[in-house]
Amino acid sequence: MSRLGLGSIAVIGAGVSGCALAAQLRLLGHQGPISLWETGRGPGGRASTRRSRQDPALRIDHGAPLFNITAETDPHLLQPLLSGGWIEPWPGVIAQLQGESSLRLGQSDAMGLGTLYRGLGGMDHLCQGLLSLAGKAFEAHYGTLVRFLAWHDGLWQLYGPDRQLLCQAQWLVLSSTLLAHPRSRMIFGWHDVPLKEAAAALADLQLDHALTLIAGIRTEARSNLLVVLDPAAGQPWRELPFSLLHFDAAAQQRWGLQQITIQPLADGRCAVVAHSSHAFAADHLDVYGTHSAVAKMLQLPPDEGRQETVIAALTAALEAVMAPWLSRPDLGSSERQLMRWGAAFPLAPGLPAELIFCAQSRLGFCGDFIAGVGFGRIEGALRSGENLARQLCSQ
Ligand SMILES: Cc1cc2nc3c(=O)[nH]c(=O)nc-3n(C[C@H](O)[C@H](O)[C@H](O)COP(=O)(O)OP(=O)(O)OC[C@H]3O[C@@H](n4cnc5c(N)ncnc54)[C@H](O)[C@@H]3O)c2cc1C
Repeated sequence: MSRLGLGSIAVIGAGVSGCALAAQLRLLGHQGPISLWETGRGPGGRASTRRSRQDPALRIDHGAPLFNITAETDPHLLQPLLSGGWIEPWPGVIAQLQGESSLRLGQSDAMGLGTLYRGLGGMDHLCQGLLSLAGKAFEAHYGTLVRFLAWHDGLWQLYGPDRQLLCQAQWLVLSSTLLAHPRSRMIFGWHDVPLKEAAAALADLQLDHALTLIAGIRTEARSNLLVVLDPAAGQPWRELPFSLLHFDAAAQQRWGLQQITIQPLADGRCAVVAHSSHAFAADHLDVYGTHSAVAKMLQLPPDEGRQETVIAALTAALEAVMAPWLSRPDLGSSERQLMRWGAAFPLAPGLPAELIFCAQSRLGFCGDFIAGVGFGRIEGALRSGENLARQLCSQ
């Protein structure tokens, strides 16, 4: 198949990797239809920003607060994103908490190495920028969960939860492991792993191998506390000598937190996001938070009691750890919410890059779960989308 004859492509997921794939396909000259299917309200995935129609100044980066580029060669999409005003160099200061309360300015974990960037005006602008590079000629379907997949007469078919046909396409891209990993059975109570079921009809050994390896990928969770402080309460936080505090292993064990980010809002308020440690999140996996997309999809009844307990525990840890730098970090009267990320970070080794492109089944994988530079980070998501686009266009 020639480059222009690639045909239609259905991409499941509008996180960084799915959006990078769409952008790179267009930059490489792909003219065919691209449709994006995303269960969230907009693009972003784990690099999204919480906003509110009722409160336009509210803007909280509740997943990734920044991203870093560690390899010598930048992803191709980085420069267009910078020159388009979608991202900017990260202007903040990172510090590390070591043990109980020893502060080291300028030190971080692997997320702070290399050159740091953030979405300009919110992390969700990274994906908005990628989609603007993809041009107008793609269809985005937000608020839509793809539940079933089938291969029929040489076309991929995507179905919703009620088995309604959503679309047919010549190529399918999965930018998330959700439809390929047994965890979907645990989360949603499904009896099948959708891609595995569809693959049974394909007899594609490479795809079967990829599915076996994907099934072995484990993930770490995070329970994040989002706090919005009014201008007076937020002032001392704004004056801290750091805007991101990373916790080393001993500090994580001591406090149950992994990092704190301080995000001043345009109207004088200040948002603070406390990311829990993996161990804390693992102990509270069944507490989703009122705003959880999964809880809404599953129509779970709100469990205010358990949620309040988790919020109270994270609040107490945040107040206690910040006490040496803030005279009265009393968060009791502030607005607080819980955001649980069930699969925040994939654990190595991930899916080997040579298995991402299954030409026989006309299927590709991208996402931060692909092994290689940037694994488990936005850098990896960006690079995997670019890489898959190149492989598709070389057909
Ligand atoms: C709390 C937290 C902090 C982080 N901090 C950093 C950091 O500092 N630096 C960094 O580089 N990275 C960080 N990360 C990791 C970073 O966010 C991810 O590596 C990156 O966003 C992954 O992008 P992706 O496209 O691979 O996946 P995702 O963002 O997960 O995108 C996949 C999308 O697919 C959608 N989807 C999945 N299945 C379906 C379906 N069946 N139907 C419809 N839609 C579907 C999902 O809703 C999702 O939007 C952090 C992550 C979290 C959670």
